[in-house]
Amino acid sequence: MALSNSNGSKGLLQSRELFEYVLETSVYPREPELLKEIRVITANHPQSLMSTSPDAGQLIALLQKLINAKKTIEIGVFTGYSLLLTALTIPQDGKITAIDMNKDTYEMGLPVIKKAEVEHKINFIQSQALSALDELLKDDANRGSFDFAFVDADKVNYQKYHEVLLQLVKVGGIIVYDNTLWLGTVAMPEEFVKEELKPTRFYSIEFNKFLANDDRVQISQVPLGDGITICWRL
Ligand code: SAM
Ligand code: CA
Repeated sequence: MALSNSNGSKGLLQSRELFEYVLETSVYPREPELLKEIRVITANHPQSLMSTSPDAGQLIALLQKLINAKKTIEIGVFTGYSLLLTALTIPQDGKITAIDMNKDTYEMGLPVIKKAEVEHKINFIQSQALSALDELLKDDANRGSFDFAFVDADKVNYQKYHEVLLQLVKVGGIIVYDNTLWLGTVAMPEEFVKEELKPTRFYSIEFNKFLANDDRVQISQVPLGDGITICWRL
């Protein structure tokens, strides 16, 4: 089935044909039906662009499998593509702490999550991410207890999230940051960048430089989707 990408973009690849090739050849044939359903539901949302790109999702699930992730945290749920992906990947007794200030969008995808019979793995917290993270830190049992974190909200605060996540994620765990190439604007001269993209471009450039020098993590910035940076907690 020639499903086009729900976010209508070709990611950062040089041609739409190449992007479609990757999706059609390697991603869509292995994408669970219920994830496709979330994609279709999300396509009707005016901000469908925000949904995690399925090719990036495939890498995220692979990383989770590789480290046997069981306890995870997600910042930025939207309609739940990456959330359902994680819920389908971790074991039956796995747990996801999922944070988003908007519950309405979470509820758009919730019927699909219920159909997948993975709702019991999800603890959805409707909150500003920083305050929810601070709450988690108050419980000592949470420190160094998470295997995996996916961060996909409020890019200007990534550095603040990073400091908390380094305390929550165990050594050997993984933190993935999404959109770290911010539509390619990180490498564009500022005068060519649309006004509304400039604040996040600025913070993304700062964050990428910061991560490059952060010896608490080993990193790889991968030009998939809108750019994802994988951090392995050392
Ligand atoms: N990972 C999601 C997916 O696969 O569909 C996409 C997440 S979307 C890019 C960003 C989400 O972050 C939105 O649902 C928005 O409500 C939420 N958000 C933005 N700023 C936030 C903040 N400061 N605290 C908590 N949630 C926030
Ligand atoms: Ca994203």
